[in-house]
Amino acid sequence: SIRVRFAPSPTGMFHVGGARSALFNWALAQQQTDGRFVLRIEDTDAARNRPEWTEGIVRALSWLGISAEDPHFEGPYFQSAYAGRHRETAEALYKAGRAYYCDCTREKVVERRGSEFRGYDGFCRDRGLEAGPGRALRFRVPEGGPTVVDDRIRGRVEFEHSAIEDFVIARGDGSPLFVLANVVDDVEMGINEVIRGEEHLSNTPKQQLLWEALGHTPPVWAHLPVIVNEKRQKLSKRRDKVALESYQEEGYLAEAMINYLMLLGWAPGDDREIMPWEQMVPLFDIADVNSSSAFFDEKKLRAFNGEYIRALSTEEFIERCRPWLEGPDAPWPAAAYDAEAFAAIAPLAQSRIAVLSEIVPNVDFLFLDEPVFDEKSWNKAMKPGVGAEMLTAAAERFADEKQDWEAGALKAALEEIGTAQGLKLGKAQAPVRVAVTGRTVGLPLFESLELLGRERTVRRLRAALE
Ligand code: GLU
Repeated sequence: SIRVRFAPSPTGMFHVGGARSALFNWALAQQQTDGRFVLRIEDTDAARNRPEWTEGIVRALSWLGISAEDPHFEGPYFQSAYAGRHRETAEALYKAGRAYYCDCTREKVVERRGSEFRGYDGFCRDRGLEAGPGRALRFRVPEGGPTVVDDRIRGRVEFEHSAIEDFVIARGDGSPLFVLANVVDDVEMGINEVIRGEEHLSNTPKQQLLWEALGHTPPVWAHLPVIVNEKRQKLSKRRDKVALESYQEEGYLAEAMINYLMLLGWAPGDDREIMPWEQMVPLFDIADVNSSSAFFDEKKLRAFNGEYIRALSTEEFIERCRPWLEGPDAPWPAAAYDAEAFAAIAPLAQSRIAVLSEIVPNVDFLFLDEPVFDEKSWNKAMKPGVGAEMLTAAAERFADEKQDWEAGALKAALEEIGTAQGLKLGKAQAPVRVAVTGRTVGLPLFESLELLGRERTVRRLRAALE
């Protein structure tokens, strides 16, 4: 049965690219009853690791549904715990003649090879050096022939041995390098398929040689295409919004995110794009992943998210909005929040927002003492000869108890007032909307007024006139 792994280094925010790799691995593990997804935290770079990054990885994976609650999950293991095993393996490779010690500095190699550093020249191959301080251990790359990597996505990739230098597997202080530690752990953890980012393709011939030198059949390899932004540049944390957490914080639904990430290089076929995880799992095939770069289209992700939001039941939608409405980050005091009023307006919001955080500016007029005025909207709606006139007339009409306080009746009233001023409804309602909600765009106005109530509406219309 399949054993895949996800092996992130906890050196930064968890990235959408990492999330895609994790999901592809997760899908493969879930396809088989005994399939396993091993989470291995590659925490050997003590200077760059931080426990909060590790926590962030675990949290993000669990948001995506990848957690120990599922029997396909195994771990997390921490690479730093296996340092002894890495050193022993390096030693064993030396004893078997597959690796040799080398005391060449970079400068010495450059001196021998000319100005440009073109890789190690094999100087110490046959010098028979013993272990010692400052002596790195290099893998003896076999002479002649290529190493052929049979990649499930890129096909057959040949790497001539003459182009692979005798690479370092352990530093002068005995500490192992990534190429070695990564293989030793994969061997030990029984990994038989390695699915990871394309940036590791150049390590693969070296790692395949190591697998063979250690007496094991190399795993099946699959290198995922890079993810690019709209300028076809590789996504980068300096340029692009790449932290999975920032999408979560903005109110992307996990299920929309999962769905979108799965389409970065893969498609279920039949032009179907919106598809729940459970349906994608049996269809997923790593061999169907495209080898060309995948465009991370934020607009499309947003549209996906909107669709997922609209597919929720109203109850579920209300539940998902809660962190924005009731949490400490809500811009109104907890006591001002009215769950019933929100429940009444929720369906109107659900059909209009694309990310959950957008719920706040759409409903804040209900819970704040005063609307948050957006200056541009104000200037646009309160044109001389229109704004004040509309507000005065509306305040008077709405204050009258004879005016029915119901959306349809409010609309008819405002239409009438507008007509008297020579204004179509759109123009006539703009000042009222701004006075009451602070903005020119928002949820349907008359339903909003109905919910806000006569007293607060009239108060705001009058306040805006001052
Ligand atoms: N720790 C490596 C990384 O984060 C793992 C690479 C691999 O999957 O083999 O890039």
